[in-house]
Amino acid sequence: MKRERALSGKTNTIYDCIVVGFGGVGSAALREAAKHGWSVLGIDRFGPAHDRGSSHGRTRLIRRAYFEHPSYVPLAERAFEMWDELNKRHRTSPKIKELITPTGLLQIGNPDSEVIQGVKRSADQHSLAIEQFNAEEIKRRLPILKVKPHHVGLFEPDAAFLRVEMCVTAMVDQAVKHGAEIVSNTVVQNWNVGDDGICNVATDAGKFQAHRLIIAAGAWNPQLLPDLNLGLKVVQKQQHWFQLDRVDHKIENQFPCFLVEQDNGDCFYGVPEIDYLGLKVCEHTGGKPIAGPSELDRGLDQTALARNEAFMQEHLEHGRRRLVHHSNCMYTMSPDGHFFADYYPGHANVVFAAGLSGHGFKFTPVLGKHLVDLLNGQCEPEFDFLKIAGRV
Ligand SMILES: Cc1cc2nc3c(=O)[nH]c(=O)nc-3n(C[C@H](O)[C@H](O)[C@H](O)COP(=O)(O)OP(=O)(O)OC[C@H]3O[C@@H](n4cnc5c(N)ncnc54)[C@H](O)[C@@H]3O)c2cc1C
Repeated sequence: MKRERALSGKTNTIYDCIVVGFGGVGSAALREAAKHGWSVLGIDRFGPAHDRGSSHGRTRLIRRAYFEHPSYVPLAERAFEMWDELNKRHRTSPKIKELITPTGLLQIGNPDSEVIQGVKRSADQHSLAIEQFNAEEIKRRLPILKVKPHHVGLFEPDAAFLRVEMCVTAMVDQAVKHGAEIVSNTVVQNWNVGDDGICNVATDAGKFQAHRLIIAAGAWNPQLLPDLNLGLKVVQKQQHWFQLDRVDHKIENQFPCFLVEQDNGDCFYGVPEIDYLGLKVCEHTGGKPIAGPSELDRGLDQTALARNEAFMQEHLEHGRRRLVHHSNCMYTMSPDGHFFADYYPGHANVVFAAGLSGHGFKFTPVLGKHLVDLLNGQCEPEFDFLKIAGRV
């Protein structure tokens, strides 16, 4: 195995594997590939844990009782295990913050809503422990929440949040410790597989070659998977952090993460205050459709802010609030809201993950491993629902 540097195309290393993008999925795939003993190169147009893609904004929720579809539950179980394992490796001193923090998640809505029905379906099918509360019980336990009298709450006690940027950095760090090389600020322009089966990756810093290729370019995937016509649509989302004149929404007061489906189907969620930044509030539905990442606007989006403020007015006893931070991020929606993780058609040595549809971060270690497994010819049936076939 030759391991010379291939920068600027001046040398002719052939890596065992190249990973395009080391954001959420790519950092996990990089780590898996390096752990597997492959010589591996990660290439990213920015760098580890940047704020221009889809894996930033301090926190991501992780939950098991998956309202989107029960097929995700076994993957969520594995994800919890993998985050715990990564956390143990990452947290070498009590001074280092945990990657994963259990808070519980309270999901609220009309008993017939998609969220409540979906959580129940996954919990029933997979015998998951969830507790049900009526509006009065929620009000008694969490006085900050204003709950409609006809709404119910389902509480998943083991749900947690992940510190998203720290997770990405930890996965890149582990990959590098296992021998991965990374190049930042380098844009992959295109790729092909030659007649010799070698993957040729053209970048603005020269050409790289590998026996295998993993494409994990998030919202940029349409540019790198042009022939697939996956029907991906990019939506800009704005997250807001508010300081409040009260303390019960803070993590130290055991405030849980929460998600509310309103009667019109709109969904908003909140994450307790951590690191003195305030309560995080974000809309899961809605958002601003954009043609692609080059249109991502990093300024304050008054429409998104107005929607989050209206949600707070209706569902929180927040009193005086001060907006202290915002962050813009992208959902890359697949047509059915489920991820794609599969072989690139016609190539057993090229795989990709795309269309994580605003709920994929929690699964990134699982998806990273799955992509490496695919390259090893292993395809577990639990991932069949993420294949392209029959969906585009
Ligand atoms: C506001 C918001 C809230 C969310 N909340 C949750 C949540 O609570 N729970 C959850 O599980 N999920 C959540 N998600 C979804 C989740 O964060 C994303 O699905 C996931 O992070 C996407 O990871 P990715 O690897 O596909 O994309 P990214 O992390 O964006 O990674 C793609 C990488 O590819 C690189 N790249 C792109 N093109 C090229 C190129 N040509 N050459 C080199 N590098 C390239 C980019 O620089 C980037 O680093 C949320 C998303 C957002 C935006």
